[in-house]
Amino acid sequence: MPELPEVETIKRDLEKIIIGKKITEVCVHNPKVIRNVSVDALKKGLTGVTFKNVLRRAKVLILELSNGKSLVIHLKMTGQLVYPGEGKICRVSFHLSDGKILDFNDQRLFAELHLLDDWRDFKFIQSLGPEPFELSVDEFKEMLSRKKAKIKPLLMDQAFISGIGNLYAAEILFRAKIDPERPAQSLSDKEKEALFKEAKDVLNGAIHYGGSSVDDYVRLSGKPGGYAVYHKVYGREGKPCLVCKTPIKRIALGGRGTYFCPKCQK
Ligand SMILES: [Zn+2]
Repeated sequence: MPELPEVETIKRDLEKIIIGKKITEVCVHNPKVIRNVSVDALKKGLTGVTFKNVLRRAKVLILELSNGKSLVIHLKMTGQLVYPGEGKICRVSFHLSDGKILDFNDQRLFAELHLLDDWRDFKFIQSLGPEPFELSVDEFKEMLSRKKAKIKPLLMDQAFISGIGNLYAAEILFRAKIDPERPAQSLSDKEKEALFKEAKDVLNGAIHYGGSSVDDYVRLSGKPGGYAVYHKVYGREGKPCLVCKTPIKRIALGGRGTYFCPKCQK
């Protein structure tokens, strides 16, 4: 699933391409991805309207429009935005004033498009906790000190802290040398500080390289992101730890495959 770095990459790609362009036509090939309005209302709300601004909240994209409304896109598991698209295999295609097409693909149909009068009223966005970049180290330490939950599922809890999913939680915990099953409040001050630093460093590194293409994620151009080669534990079960050569283990934790080094991570 695209996490904060992937969605930030798409946001930055979109900013360069769509701002100032008008939607001339909307073709809906599968209405299931449109969540809060009818197909007719979506077409009516978007046709002839210009993209004004692109925002991101955690893993959610917000496209602000010249009519005051916003198109909110949650890519979930397999959602993709591709430009220039072909308007064929996609779920929804947006024909733009430059004569090209912005395709919204979603193989598994879990993704969500919402057309909203004000995205700030969207309950899902209101439910999100702060992103790591919005916190000070002291705030982060205080948040962890009140939690008995295991640290990895807690890092993935979007109401607690938003933007981190399964892949980056594993990478962050490896770099911070913390066992994913540790209760959050058992971490020392030093460990909490390391975790906070690594969370920001890993997310920034992944943004720098355009995200990780391990499943369906692609950049707006349709090309993969470049960060997967820097993964240290994710998807490396049985392979030697890059620090100590102990085989990387995979366990199920909170229902998600969790990769870690049993020697480096305490
Ligand atoms: Zn190791």
